[in-house]
Amino acid sequence: MPATETSSNNSYDLIVVGSGPAGQKAAICAAKLRKKVALIERKRTIGGVCVNTGTIPSKVFREAILYLSGLRQRAFYGRSYAVKDNIVMQDLVFRADMVMAREIEVIKAQLRRNRVTVFEGNARFLDLHTMEVANEDGYTLLRGDNFVIACGTRPAHDAQIPIDGKRIFDSDQVHELQELPRELIVVGAGIIGLEYASMFAALGVKVTLLDQRPTLLDFVDREVIESLCFQLRQLGTVFRLGERVVSVGFDADRDRVFAKLESGKTVQGGALLYAVGRQANSDQLNLEAIGLAPDGRGKLIVNENYQTAIPHIYAAGDVIGFPALASTSMEQGRLASSHIFGTVANIPPNLIPYGIYTIPEISMVGATEEQLTRDKIPYETGIARYAELAKAQMLGDDQGFLKLIFDPSTLKILGVHVIGERAVEIVHIGQAVLALGGTIEYFRDTVFNYPTLAEAFKVAALDGLNKL
Ligand SMILES: Cc1cc2nc3c(=O)[nH]c(=O)nc-3n(C[C@H](O)[C@H](O)[C@H](O)COP(=O)(O)OP(=O)(O)OC[C@H]3O[C@@H](n4cnc5c(N)ncnc54)[C@H](O)[C@@H]3O)c2cc1C
Repeated sequence: MPATETSSNNSYDLIVVGSGPAGQKAAICAAKLRKKVALIERKRTIGGVCVNTGTIPSKVFREAILYLSGLRQRAFYGRSYAVKDNIVMQDLVFRADMVMAREIEVIKAQLRRNRVTVFEGNARFLDLHTMEVANEDGYTLLRGDNFVIACGTRPAHDAQIPIDGKRIFDSDQVHELQELPRELIVVGAGIIGLEYASMFAALGVKVTLLDQRPTLLDFVDREVIESLCFQLRQLGTVFRLGERVVSVGFDADRDRVFAKLESGKTVQGGALLYAVGRQANSDQLNLEAIGLAPDGRGKLIVNENYQTAIPHIYAAGDVIGFPALASTSMEQGRLASSHIFGTVANIPPNLIPYGIYTIPEISMVGATEEQLTRDKIPYETGIARYAELAKAQMLGDDQGFLKLIFDPSTLKILGVHVIGERAVEIVHIGQAVLALGGTIEYFRDTVFNYPTLAEAFKVAALDGLNKL
């Protein structure tokens, strides 16, 4: 068959590239609308970065580390308390593998139940409606009326950084480490770098965190970041911010990894995690064949409906850039499919929650004090310190806090910021009230279960109202 001919069997209403959260939800949404859908995944395992190397394994590691290290229990049982002495990589990988295997089964079952046809192989465009799927058995041609590109990203590499997956590794390779280093250099203090830095620090690894930016996570409330830095320093983390790494290497004689900094310093360690951004996988899709041009890091530009410059070709998930979260990717995939098949919806940007699974964890929704100050919008804050909450005491967290930001004249909630135990869960209470246009009085007048961390909303509301 000539390269651009396809049979009607291989014609689809929608072809989705990538089985990560964006691809899965795009495919299932279209299938629920009774469309014929193909999903192409080049890896043997389904689920994308989310299930295989990113979100799920890193969050299982975190749970395993918190449990085995006994970190949260030390307030009660002493600084040397641990559930297991000598925690090894296998302890973490074992638990991650179990969860990942179950997640993969769940996703496969969902796709099967919804009659999405899954093709294994590398997808590339041949023309505006034809896609080639190549694997070791040969290639198949598929014809699509519409496409959702959800090809995700991979860790960005630099020719100067000799990544070997053992002593110098990226975030996709953490899972494959044979042993835990005693000292770790983390290059890149973005969310991924910080999450892993805090996990290793909780295991007692001496962590040095390097970033050329002078400040951490600029979109997060400054008080929250100050608290994070304070708590990470208590775990022994050393911050070297505003420092550019010029080279990285391995000194075989001393069996040490080093990072040379532009300022002339050299930082040494047992291993180095290179976590400096991610590169989109769009470079492997033969986009030249359809005349679609990504930006420098391969990101695709879309409009508010996730449509690229070519109307029947959509893109969703990490390949379109910020916020590049599993949570938002799922929604973008669903919304892209909804738009293709006639329903229009949107994600209000002020309602996107951010969950940062550092130790301690951070979560936020809505505006920060810094944004409101910049935009000259008056606000007041109410704070609940975990040290005042009975539940937080029981959990061994007396450092956390929840901050409500609200309009002092209308009392409407503008933002919610939490650091501490269960932050990523309880933030959704604030998100719901924010979404419904609620006021801080709602929290004052509501009875919360006691003792809970959710009670922080009431304590913060009372604190805020007292300031007016
Ligand atoms: C260490 C780490 C921790 C994270 N933690 C969190 C978290 O706690 N919470 C959160 O919300 N997000 C988290 N994320 C982000 C989250 O994993 C991503 O936002 C999400 O996976 C993006 O989904 P996606 O569908 O866009 O792409 P991906 O999950 O990257 O999936 C893309 C898929 O497309 C496939 N593909 C690519 N090109 C082709 C091709 N040409 N042909 C066929 N298949 C192709 C790839 O093999 C891949 O399976 C984390 C990421 C990392 C790296």
